[in-house]
Amino acid sequence: MPEQTFRRPVALHLAALRERVADAARAAGRDPDEVRVLLATKTMPVDVVREAVLAGADLLGENKVQELVAKAPALADLAPSLHVIGRLQSNKVNLALRWAECVQSVDDLDLAERLSRRCEAVDRDLDVMVQVNVSGEATKAGVAPDAALELALAVAALPRLRLVGLMTIGAASRDVERVAAGFARLRGLRDALVASGAPGTAAARELSMGMSGDLETAVAEGSTLVRVGTAVFGDRPRA
Ligand SMILES: *Cc1c(COP(=O)(O)O)cnc(C)c1O
Repeated sequence: MPEQTFRRPVALHLAALRERVADAARAAGRDPDEVRVLLATKTMPVDVVREAVLAGADLLGENKVQELVAKAPALADLAPSLHVIGRLQSNKVNLALRWAECVQSVDDLDLAERLSRRCEAVDRDLDVMVQVNVSGEATKAGVAPDAALELALAVAALPRLRLVGLMTIGAASRDVERVAAGFARLRGLRDALVASGAPGTAAARELSMGMSGDLETAVAEGSTLVRVGTAVFGDRPRA
């Protein structure tokens, strides 16, 4: 029997999400094709994730390397692109590189250098983004905005790493203008990075910003990649 004989809830939610993202793009006067969707799959069992990939989700993000490693083999036949979107501990770099196509959460040079060296050792390239803490909230990972350009330029110059853009988590605030200002800051940093003309910056066009609760704001500020979990999978079980 085919694996998918009728549309399951995850497929319906994914279709609704794609509409929502496209509406946000059109409302901002942008081409909906400019905004891709990455599903944040933390805590979701692999059969549910598989269902989403079968429904067309081709970009997945995991926060924890353990979860990435646990789910990736069961998805390998569908070949989704797997991203690391959470803090990557240096002792997990080798494991992460076994499965990840992109690490979005690079926020210090030590980690970037370690990734670069390991990529050289295993003879592969890796897409990376620099994560910026635009909200300044102490609980959030990411390099401070004032230090972001310097870090991004250093990362871009490392062998085997391809800097593809910047990532952020929006401010946890109901004040839409405050959230928007953070996203605009990330866009300004990306524009400065690309305009620098420095080695390795030409491809750094991605703005990974916007989640279930703030994707309209992020798309209005230029997001090229929204990372969505709950809007597709429902609420995560509490830890
Ligand atoms: C969980 C998570 C998301 C998705 O958040 P939702 O609110 O569930 O859409 C996006 N980015 C990161 C880094 C996350 O950890």
